[in-house]
This record gives sequence, structure tokens and C-alpha cells, in this order.
Amino acid sequence: MKPSTIAIDGPAASGKSTVAERVAHQLGYLYLDTGVMYRAVTWAAIQRNVPLEDEAAVTDLARALHIDVVSPSVDDGRQYTVLTDGVDVTWDIRRPAVDANVSLVSTYRGVRAEMVRQQRRVAQGGRIVMVGRDIGSVVLPDADLKIYMDAAVEERARRRWLELQERSKPMAYDDVLAMMRSRDQIDSQRDISPLCIPAGAVVFDTTELSAEEVLAQLLALIERQGCPADE
Ligand code: C5P
Repeated sequence: MKPSTIAIDGPAASGKSTVAERVAHQLGYLYLDTGVMYRAVTWAAIQRNVPLEDEAAVTDLARALHIDVVSPSVDDGRQYTVLTDGVDVTWDIRRPAVDANVSLVSTYRGVRAEMVRQQRRVAQGGRIVMVGRDIGSVVLPDADLKIYMDAAVEERARRRWLELQERSKPMAYDDVLAMMRSRDQIDSQRDISPLCIPAGAVVFDTTELSAEEVLAQLLALIERQGCPADE
């Protein structure tokens, strides 16, 4: 049987979202990029003037906020539409202010508990590709297939720098690199659910691979898992 729940973890710009979306599309599975949920809470806090360092207030907001991730409602290059309390925040959650603060918000225990609860509910029916930092380790430790994607930090910064240019939101490469390093550090050193290679994960280093190459390798891996000899 092909894996039904596929967990993909890795640092920012390791290539996981692009590939996960395409794998989900090929298999006819649901795709959930859990990073958008932490981003949605961060953006809502900024907009509503909730102090980001106030853990209790941000946690209350995370519990009250209604986050929906649905099929793209506009053809503008988005992978999905993100709504908070019914408002389209798909591009707002990519703002530098969110990039700079989302890792702090993601360290809050209550915020994580709420996001994980919602993520598990979405995954209940299987046939899902879920992407994040703690999917194989915490959210879905029994996933049928666990992938960990990584790439050199300089290459990841280059990808994010290019992405920002394409979206007409240019930033100096050195600033992108510094932010990437800072997020990596917070994400992998936090006490709760740090970014790590989950037990049993297959590791992909995408530094020198194109998205097409990663996709082909991942689909081959999924086919192999679906082979009768493996059942
Ligand atoms: O993947 P993306 O860069 O959009 O994630 C934004 C941030 O959300 C990460 O830097 C991390 O701090 C947090 N995150 C997390 N757990 C997840 C997904 C994202 O802590 N499962």
C-alpha cells in the first residue's frame, strides 16, 4: 500500500513546500503546510496590537482565531488561500515582520498545543502530505512515511532572496541570510518540539538538486513503499 500519511519536515526554504504540494497533487492527497498556521497567529497578533512577547495573550489569540487553509481562491501564484476569521491573509503572512517574529510565537507551548490539535484533526482521514518542523516527531509520529529535507543555509537564503525579488519585495541577501540563521537557531533550540530529524525519517539534502529532481526521487520512494514486496 502507498503511504497514506506523509510527514515532511525541514528548515525554511529547504524545498519542502514546493515538493510536498506537487506530491500531494500527483497522489490526489490533501496538502497542509503547517507553517502558515503559526504565521497566521503571528500576523493576527501584529494586526491586533497583541504584544508578541506576551505569551498568555498570544496563546489566547491562537485559541480564539479561526484559521482556514483552503484551495486557492485567486490565480496569483499562491499554493492555497489562508483565511483568519474569514479574511484572506495569504500574502500578509509572508511579510518580513512575520518572518522576523514567527519563530518566537512558535516557541509558545499553548500556541503549539492548539496548532497541533487542529493539525491532527485535519490528518484524521489520512491521504495527506503535511509539512512543518515537528510533523514526523510530534504531530504525526505514526506517519507512514517521514521525510526530512535540508539544504545549506546559504543556498536556502539564496532561494528566499530570489523569491522575495520575484514578489517585488527585495531584501539584501545578507539580511535574508542573517534572518534565516536566526530562525534556524530558534527553531532547532527551543524546548518544545524543536526542529530535528524524526526517528525513521528519510533525509534529502536538496542543496544541489532542482525541485524536479527532488520530486522524482520522492515519488520513486513512495512507489517503492507501495510495492507488494514491501507490504
Ligand atoms: O515553514 P515556514 O517557514 O512557513 O514556518 C514558519 C515558522 O513557523 C517556522 O520558522 C517555525 O518557527 C514555525 N513552525 C513550527 N512548527 C511547524 C511549522 C512551522 O514551529 N510545524
